[in-house]
Amino acid sequence: MLQIRDPYKTTHPETAYQTDDLSIFLNIRGNNEYVKVSYPVKYGIFSRLETREMILEFNLNHEIKHARSKTRHWLHPSEWLKRTVGNDWIYYSSGGYSGVVEAIGEYYLPNFMYATNSLLGGKPFEFPVIADLCSSWQDMMAGIPGALPDMPDPIADWLEKAKSIHGPDLEKKADHLFDISGARATVLPPDARHSDYNLIPLTIADGCLYKCRFCKVKNKKPFTPRSRTDIQQQIQALKLLYGPDLINYNALFLGEHDALCAPKDLILFAANQSHDAFGFAHSFMKTPRMYLFGSVDSLLNADMTLFEALNRLPFDTYINIGLESHDQATLDRIGKPITAEKVSLAFDRMGEINQTFPKIEMTGNFIMDDHLPPTHIQSMLDLVRDRISRPVPKGSIYLSPLRFGKPSREVLYDFYRLKTASRLPMFLYIIQRL
Ligand code: SF4
Repeated sequence: MLQIRDPYKTTHPETAYQTDDLSIFLNIRGNNEYVKVSYPVKYGIFSRLETREMILEFNLNHEIKHARSKTRHWLHPSEWLKRTVGNDWIYYSSGGYSGVVEAIGEYYLPNFMYATNSLLGGKPFEFPVIADLCSSWQDMMAGIPGALPDMPDPIADWLEKAKSIHGPDLEKKADHLFDISGARATVLPPDARHSDYNLIPLTIADGCLYKCRFCKVKNKKPFTPRSRTDIQQQIQALKLLYGPDLINYNALFLGEHDALCAPKDLILFAANQSHDAFGFAHSFMKTPRMYLFGSVDSLLNADMTLFEALNRLPFDTYINIGLESHDQATLDRIGKPITAEKVSLAFDRMGEINQTFPKIEMTGNFIMDDHLPPTHIQSMLDLVRDRISRPVPKGSIYLSPLRFGKPSREVLYDFYRLKTASRLPMFLYIIQRL
């Protein structure tokens, strides 16, 4: 029989405790690869506490990670709540599976507590069973008796630690995370879905080049790369903050809005230092990934040697470029200070890089809105349909609705029309923060 070696057997032994009303399993092995499947999958090594009413899952820092009620009021047995490292709760809904995977490339639809640009989903946080679980899981934990006479020591110890971490502690930790990089990342690249947004944020440059009028996620900082010393300090602080749970991570987000514009040596320095310091080579999760944003100008100015070097890194690298529109009238209307001609050149360069480098995927964003000039959609089709001779599986295009909190049937209809015509994979971009 084939014996599968478990390198975590000694450091993270699986331990269980069960009574009629309570079960605790420590160090459960979840999936070690991110997958796209139509049933619930949990990733990494984690622990689970289950009562008659609820299932709570914790990371290796004893911090809550997932929650689900077992009562009949819960919306669907295969849906769950996830708490992010930024201390947001996200409700993963199956959306009945119809259309979700076509629209976002994932089987589960993330629903947020904050306003975003999603065209899909409902308002799960308005259901008391969901809102209550987010706010009162700790009260329920407090009601669980501590060390019972027959409880093994590791279980009793774990329970005491898990019960000692309260809401304000989690909030404080998230604030500390934002302080390390200088600010909360207001938007993560859409490609981060390939790691279920479980990533470590490292800021290598602040701000962006354009300060576009339409943009809701920009800040006032002028584009400024960080120093190597600053990057090293962030890495050390992040290592401490992620702590024992670091082995569940293998994805890096190089922030902020235009890391591609940073000097080539700085990008490579940050990637290599992070890979070593965070121990990605020994992570429980396989296939390290790196995500960054880029702009049209940073892409056009980047030397091909940068991409050659990125392709040699131990990461699969995803670079997301804000193209927004291939139509000059639209670019002018949204206040994006670039030309349609440059967008066209950037689009071609993305295709060239995608064809040349197997470990790099360049992806692009276009905006969507029902108040844009009709030439916007036609000019987008000129690129994603007419400029490519046959369908290609690499180089996803993300369509980002301009308005927050205003789902629109017309925009959704346009999306499906464009998706059908596109020769590149096309998905909706749901803006998610750290
Ligand atoms: S779209 Fe990108 S470049 Fe424009 S303001 Fe927003 S972050 Fe900056």
